[in-house]
Amino acid sequence: MGIVVQKYGGSSVADAAGVKRVAQRIIATKKAGHDVVVVVSAMGDTTDELIDLANEVTPLPPARELDMLLTAGERISMAVLAMAIQSIGFDARSFTGSQAGVITDAEHGRAKIIDVTPGRIQAALSEGAIAIVAGFQGVSQTTKDITTLGRGGSDTTAVALAVALKADVCEIYSDVDGIFTADPRIEPRARKVPRISYEETLEMAAQGAKILHLRCVEYARRYDMPIHVRSSFSDKEGTWVVKAEDVTEGETMEAAIITGVAHDRSQAKITVVGVPDKVGEAAAIFRAVAEAQTNIDMIVQNVSAAATGRTDISFTLPRAEGQAAMAALSKLQGEVGYERLQYDDSVGKVSVVGAGMSTAPGITATFFAALADAGVNIEMISTSEIRVSVVVAESQVEAAVNAAHAAYNLGSDEIEAVVYGGTGR
Ligand code: ASP
Ligand code: MG
Repeated sequence: MGIVVQKYGGSSVADAAGVKRVAQRIIATKKAGHDVVVVVSAMGDTTDELIDLANEVTPLPPARELDMLLTAGERISMAVLAMAIQSIGFDARSFTGSQAGVITDAEHGRAKIIDVTPGRIQAALSEGAIAIVAGFQGVSQTTKDITTLGRGGSDTTAVALAVALKADVCEIYSDVDGIFTADPRIEPRARKVPRISYEETLEMAAQGAKILHLRCVEYARRYDMPIHVRSSFSDKEGTWVVKAEDVTEGETMEAAIITGVAHDRSQAKITVVGVPDKVGEAAAIFRAVAEAQTNIDMIVQNVSAAATGRTDISFTLPRAEGQAAMAALSKLQGEVGYERLQYDDSVGKVSVVGAGMSTAPGITATFFAALADAGVNIEMISTSEIRVSVVVAESQVEAAVNAAHAAYNLGSDEIEAVVYGGTGR
């Protein structure tokens, strides 16, 4: 039997009892005849606590030192997990990202993996050991400094290692039983999706579903590595993330048109009011926003009012980047000649995602009718081939998710989703 890569998230290894429970699962996989490589996240909320600690010391922690600090979280979990496995009588060895051959660029805090050279992991496996790797970290090819891959990056470590080792599957363990038709924390009737395509998973993740790290899904899609998302707290079969052709395989019914509903409460909205309707104004506005390192999501420009020849431009962006973007735009008022800026951080985004959508008419109408019936006002709209998203007031996010979920008959009759632990952070 081949190599299995398993990744355990922070809530699965939150304390000593969790570490021991996970150790038992890993040993069960080893006993079934697999070579096992494990990627771990930091225990519980360790990463958040380390960030808080750094911020207590200085308001602007230097990026190199912050990475050094944060990678310590994963080092703790890898070492204690290796100890737990050894105490049960199995050989286990822990490795930092650098030791495991995770080579990145030099962008501290958001490094990209550029190569994986897992020689030491292969050597450990060939000696019959279980390899435990610290997730979320690597070493820069150029500076040789320790880097991190961005929050939630252990998923990406796991997929990258699975690809480099030509593993059969990358199993991602968390505190829910798989990918659900909506977040079970706000939609109790959410159903587990047995199989989902990489493309749909990417849309769900990009639209705020906290299921998998976006880059991990991109990586898996590029190399066609199947991901099995499941809970470390149960033995249930989870969700398989696979290529689109494999989603319907073996299913008797035609796949559902809508796969799930995602929501995101981390966004803010900026409106530039009264922009003169002239060539080049939008370019100036978005150049300034880009220079402030802001990632824009949705954009809406109204038709200009005939009387004034002016228009409003609204866009959404991550809340954390809101102030920087506002400051950059303020400096532009003289040049562009807009009237004023509006900032709204009590917005949320709700999206319906489904590969079947591109060939089924009426999907958008159903969504909007459901929102209207629930009394939810739509502020902005955007679409892709397999997604429709709306921006609504943050206070209406839950109602919008519930309405969309019901409108597409996504709910199950029984409560399927169990949230086993964790804080959802
Ligand atoms: N411990 C890191 C974080 O909390 C990485 C991870 O969990 O994947 O972001
Ligand atoms: Mg974590």
